Amino acid sequence: MNLITEGAVTFETEGAFYNPRMALNRDINVAMTRSLGISQYLDALAASGIRGMRVAKEAEVGEVSLNDISPEACRLMEKNLDRNSISATVTCRNANVLLHERHFQAVDLDPFGSPSSYLPAASRSALEYLFVTATDTAPLCGAHLMSGIRKYLATPLRTPYHREMGARILLGLAARELARLDKSMKPLLTHVTDHYVRIYLKVDKGAKLADRCLQKLGYVEHCSVCGSFTLLNEAKASGVCSHCSGKTSLAGPLWLGKVQDGPAINKALSTSNLSRRAEKILTACSGEIDAPMYYDHHSICERLSLTPGRIDLVLERLISRGFQASRTHFYGLGIKTDANMEDVEEAIRKS
Ligand code: SAM
Repeated sequence: MNLITEGAVTFETEGAFYNPRMALNRDINVAMTRSLGISQYLDALAASGIRGMRVAKEAEVGEVSLNDISPEACRLMEKNLDRNSISATVTCRNANVLLHERHFQAVDLDPFGSPSSYLPAASRSALEYLFVTATDTAPLCGAHLMSGIRKYLATPLRTPYHREMGARILLGLAARELARLDKSMKPLLTHVTDHYVRIYLKVDKGAKLADRCLQKLGYVEHCSVCGSFTLLNEAKASGVCSHCSGKTSLAGPLWLGKVQDGPAINKALSTSNLSRRAEKILTACSGEIDAPMYYDHHSICERLSLTPGRIDLVLERLISRGFQASRTHFYGLGIKTDANMEDVEEAIRKS
């Protein structure tokens, strides 16, 4: 028997899927769930049950439900619960059926690949929180264009900021699914780590709020020649880059609203004992300015035939000129700013 310990839980994995590389995702999940004070949580695609068990034990959530369509996985979950003296409800249902039948305060979707086929039912079921993982980064980020369009009803583009593009395409679909049910969303934390996108949403009921949420959807006009981009409310691209006159392409619809909630992330940071990597990701997310997408420092330097200097000096230069600027967890060489390409180039040359 192969026993594994992750966080405060020791469990078996034989007969169900378990990916040790997702431990960081689950560490952050425990920290967020704990700091939000959640009392009822559904792990809709639970496999070995590790995610929900950690939430029960480490985030001290009183009412945890673990669900999986596989009877083998459910038997394993019962054993794992026993071994850890955790009380939780195990159901062996198609997640979409369960989510249509019952409401939960918090719903967690952690599927193989795309969560898109579960989002309509999860949006209905979630009363206050919806947490979603997507591991299909190729369709989300523009590498598999048609698959991205089919799964997310949006056109992704392969750009230097494709990691954030993927997160915003997923957020855009969630906003539309929730809006169909007169619900709105507020992203509390968005991170793209290793091979997956993870979003934490606060959900609220109300048609007016849902309308306001939909107004935060838009498009990005991207120039593949120089890497500059323009945010648009409508799918009306000029087709020509205002910076270099190169040909542009359009991505969207996608979420252009805030993707991080600093106070919520800081609370998760201060109420949990996180690994250094998890802490680093959350600290970077909390420090990101609210400006969609980012510039790639090194590819701009390459285009301008400059040796890249320190990225922090570029940020300082932008800030001293009155722009907002920060680094981003999405990409180590990314410059997040509300400045346009011309001003970013100036800051790079002068720093
Ligand atoms: N959340 C788990 C964790 O953190 O270790 C991993 C879940 S695994 C990626 C996806 C699980 O979804 C599998 O165990 C699979 O049996 C289950 N599954 C697939 N389709 C399902 C469906 N329609 N309803 C419920 N469970 C389903």
